[in-house]
Amino acid sequence: MTSAPVEKRCNKCGLLKKLSEFHKNSACKDGLHTICKICKAKWGEYYRTTPKGKAVSTRAHEKYRKTDKYRESKQREKVKRVQKKGGDAQSA
Ligand SMILES: [Zn+2]
Repeated sequence: MTSAPVEKRCNKCGLLKKLSEFHKNSACKDGLHTICKICKAKWGEYYRTTPKGKAVSTRAHEKYRKTDKYRESKQREKVKRVQKKGGDAQSA
């Protein structure tokens, strides 16, 4: 029997941290982000506050918008919205 790990190494700062120090991310194998909350916050600030960071995040988003994954998620959102409204026809 293997006990569940209680610590995880941050990919950014390289430190071993408690699992509670990581945000949840269902896209990841273990359900947690690969970088810790502190590093993630730092990156978020960098993206939001510096022109270079903003350019990077805009470019990344544009790239993502061209993927099927983005289109699929948009489509799902749309379907969900329509279902919520009870099939209310609204031109998007
Ligand atoms: Zn970290």
